[in-house]
Amino acid sequence: MRILDCHTHRPAPYPEGIVSVSPDDWDPLPGQLYSVGLHPWYLPDDLDAALKKLGRIARDRQVAAIGEAGLDALRGGPMYRQMQAFRAQAQLAQMACKPLIVHNVRCTAEIVLLRRQWGVTVPWIIHGFRGKPTLLRMLLDAGCHISCGPRLNKDVLPSVPLPRLLAETDDSPETISEVISAMAGALGMEPGKLADRIAETAAEIFYV
Ligand SMILES: [Zn+2]
Repeated sequence: MRILDCHTHRPAPYPEGIVSVSPDDWDPLPGQLYSVGLHPWYLPDDLDAALKKLGRIARDRQVAAIGEAGLDALRGGPMYRQMQAFRAQAQLAQMACKPLIVHNVRCTAEIVLLRRQWGVTVPWIIHGFRGKPTLLRMLLDAGCHISCGPRLNKDVLPSVPLPRLLAETDDSPETISEVISAMAGALGMEPGKLADRIAETAAEIFYV
């Protein structure tokens, strides 16, 4: 399988992408890869039940990653609940030996601290990254991968080492080829070459 799009909300079938769903929407199509998680904007009232359900789904072979999960300082429920859900999902990803797709809005310090404190070994993919160079440095130093989408920061992109770089469409209507072409432009690379490199990294991370 050649995965180019590590995070999307478009519907399956989508063979070149990892389709992100919540545990309640888990209804896998044969051959499709998914990430399953609790988004910080939409945390259910009964968090324990949802996490239990996620724990059961997490081991399925079609679940390539946990998430998206994360922390959002601008939107979503109270931070203590977001933190509770994020920590539980990070733990689940670590136990299932699967990567975590991370939603991060203004919570880089918390995310980096948690990853370091816990000695996390599975990849954490910071999705939709368009932050400043200092934040990028913090995330890279903590061992995170960086995924860029349609709203990318073209000035910061060249500072991401290629082995840590992924691409995504997230919730945008743009195709993954359009996203990768824009990234390749910012990197001064040929789009086909960048696509090959991204597919290679995805294959390593998601064991596809
Ligand atoms: Zn998303």
